[in-house]
Amino acid sequence: MSKEDNREALVKVNHLKKHFTVKNNRLLKAVDGVSFEIYKGETLGLVGESGCGKSTCGRTIMGIYQPTDGTVEFEGKDVGRMGKRQKKDFFRHVQMIFQDPYASLNPRMLVSNIIAEGIDIHGLLSGSEREERIYELLSLVGLNKEHANRFPHEFSGGQRQRIGIARALAVNPKFIVCDEPISALDVSVQAQVVNLLQDLQKQYGLTYLFIAHDLSMVRYISDRVAVMYLGSLVETAQSDELYGNPLHPYTQALLSAIPIPDPKTQNERQRIVLEGEVPSPIDPPSGCAFRTRCAKAMDICAAETPMWKEVKERHFTACHLYNE
Ligand code: SF4
Repeated sequence: MSKEDNREALVKVNHLKKHFTVKNNRLLKAVDGVSFEIYKGETLGLVGESGCGKSTCGRTIMGIYQPTDGTVEFEGKDVGRMGKRQKKDFFRHVQMIFQDPYASLNPRMLVSNIIAEGIDIHGLLSGSEREERIYELLSLVGLNKEHANRFPHEFSGGQRQRIGIARALAVNPKFIVCDEPISALDVSVQAQVVNLLQDLQKQYGLTYLFIAHDLSMVRYISDRVAVMYLGSLVETAQSDELYGNPLHPYTQALLSAIPIPDPKTQNERQRIVLEGEVPSPIDPPSGCAFRTRCAKAMDICAAETPMWKEVKERHFTACHLYNE
């Protein structure tokens, strides 16, 4: 059965909001009513420029932040209503791989203890079983036994990310939020880490939310892609469909910025330059939040928020160009 046919949702995000109170009691709407599902065994890429709310969304799904409104369901259960025991299981089954592998590893801890953090917190293994599991995890991510008794500073960026992946895998998770896991790595190492994540997904049936600002790498790992702008989703589709037929002007602009290896195609393609920065989520534009940077903006775009609509099968967007 292909991943596309396997449509059982592991994670359901319903109208999720995460607002922060900032200076002068103003509200920063980092995530403002986002809904999507992540199916078992798939990778959903969540992309957008820095400051669009994608990392806050990932952290709210994981329970690091309390939602301001809306719900997150995991295996059909509302995480906000889980009892203590269910919550503990949830925190075991949901793990995270961080952007900066150095900052996320305690420099004073041995790699063995870093990898075994989850095993120790959940009291899963001890003694020789714990040790064997650490060695097994090191081998799974392409490191070896000798690395167990070293400190993080003794490793390269790519190796440190492998340690971060081993730590996430240690407790046999079902779902991993990969928060820009390759952004801090050299381009030559990025593909290796993406390949490792794909191999592990196949081996263990893992489900990923892969957060990134770089659309080029997201294409290779994601089954579906969701594009986020200023706290809201603007488009979701199967990966090939989104890259081949982007509907939303924001997605079109992001994709036009990706270099194409073929110089002829590259020359023929029209680059859409996104003017200006993402507006502040404290004071977003009225109507469509993208209208201040959209070359196709119309009068209605300032007056009305576009509806979320399925324009083609499994291809959704929120843009007045597609609303009758
Ligand atoms: Fe552009 Fe209007 Fe569509 Fe927003 S709704 S993306 S401003 S055309």
